[in-house]
Amino acid sequence: MNNINQEIKDPLCWKSFQTYYKARFPYLKKLTKRTDFCDLCCRLKQTLNDKKTLPENKLIAQNELENHTIEYSEARKAYSDHRKITAKENGWVVLSLDYAENITLPHLIDQPASFFFKTLKKVDLFGIADENNNSQLNFLIDEGFRIKKGPNSVISMLDYYLRTLIKKGSSLILYCDNCGGQNKNQYLIGYLAYMVKVEKYLNGAELYFMIVGHTKFGPDGNFGTLKRKLRDENVYSITDLIGETGIVQASAKNNFDITYKDPFTGEKKFEWKNWKGFIGEHFKPCTGIRTWHAIKIPPQTFHIQVSPSVTSPFSDYKIMDSEIP
Ligand SMILES: [Zn+2]
Repeated sequence: MNNINQEIKDPLCWKSFQTYYKARFPYLKKLTKRTDFCDLCCRLKQTLNDKKTLPENKLIAQNELENHTIEYSEARKAYSDHRKITAKENGWVVLSLDYAENITLPHLIDQPASFFFKTLKKVDLFGIADENNNSQLNFLIDEGFRIKKGPNSVISMLDYYLRTLIKKGSSLILYCDNCGGQNKNQYLIGYLAYMVKVEKYLNGAELYFMIVGHTKFGPDGNFGTLKRKLRDENVYSITDLIGETGIVQASAKNNFDITYKDPFTGEKKFEWKNWKGFIGEHFKPCTGIRTWHAIKIPPQTFHIQVSPSVTSPFSDYKIMDSEIP
């Protein structure tokens, strides 16, 4: 194919087609797969591209898409800026947390068809990522020891992480997705207020909720490397996953693991605590929490500061009425 303008009669191989395509249509770009693309983005783009949409409705969709794009771009920029905070020496630590899909055991490379009809053993997988050095602690909770995914489970694992791996007196920036049941609730906010204002384990805390549908962050990448490694391995029990020779640590040098109980010795590694009961008793409910996307918790006063977005002004919200004895 010497001349790109010459008429093509014979079928082309894929490589020649690509050469032809690039030379003939240099201004066209192949649509790349985007994963950070939510239902709202999708619906609004469809409305805009639909020839049957009335001009006035197009204008409404255009404005809505612009506002949405600004909102998630600003949130994404704040997240990227926070990830660049490498100065742990000045006391900041940036974490993000999330649940992944369960791991089912046994997990075999060649999964027998009969597995489809059997109930496999479930292992919950929860990760807390240090966004500054990209390391992640993966909590592997065997079916027999797991509790319902919710404030008690999330806060118990976060509490273990903070007290074990984070120096007292640090300031915390925490990222979560917008899941109301697990993260976006009065209990996680109350817990952080407790750690800052009552226990004074943390010098201050900031909590950010990712925008719905645009929640790609640290834990996703680390779960991804783990799941890719899992695809090529036979796993018969949780013992194949953990420890220095286990699959979690073999998946990436920055993936670490912890189980609720050591499967060899039976030793309990951390506790499930009733944080919901404790926080519910001492801290006020967070009225209006649905609209909060950024929360700052200073050590002084009974207040926290809340804002509908990372760039909007913050307003005070009273989270506790009196000192906790
Ligand atoms: Zn979107």
